[in-house]
Amino acid sequence: MAHYLSAKSFSELCDGAKRIKDDHYIARCPAHDDSSPSLNIQEAKDKLLLHCHAGCSVEQVCEAVGVSMKQLFTSSGDYVKPTYTDDERTFDKFMVAIFETEREKGLSYSERDEEIYVKSKLRLAQHGVLKDGRGLDQV
Ligand SMILES: [Zn+2]
Repeated sequence: MAHYLSAKSFSELCDGAKRIKDDHYIARCPAHDDSSPSLNIQEAKDKLLLHCHAGCSVEQVCEAVGVSMKQLFTSSGDYVKPTYTDDERTFDKFMVAIFETEREKGLSYSERDEEIYVKSKLRLAQHGVLKDGRGLDQV
């Protein structure tokens, strides 16, 4: 059973993501100033493979989107699902909604706001709140 982050979930954290197959996406690399999609995101048997054609390390890519390296690997049996409280979920949904509304209206936002947004969105994706490419990830 795969517990690692799916290619789709990871691609949602990056700009310009394109689906190649269900388990294979490409996106603009978040770790460098990427004008065309150089990041390959592919699910393997026991891990999520990330490869930046410009040479960013997996660590740099993970750090840029606030994902821990552990989340790329399946740990057999001992995986403990992080607790995610209703309060946290509400907060994350709230942050994502506000940020996306502001961005839609063309209001300016700070890097820090964007950071919180990305993290909230990631948590929602990890906990299955964002599903099937509907709703919140239409950005
Ligand atoms: Zn890169």
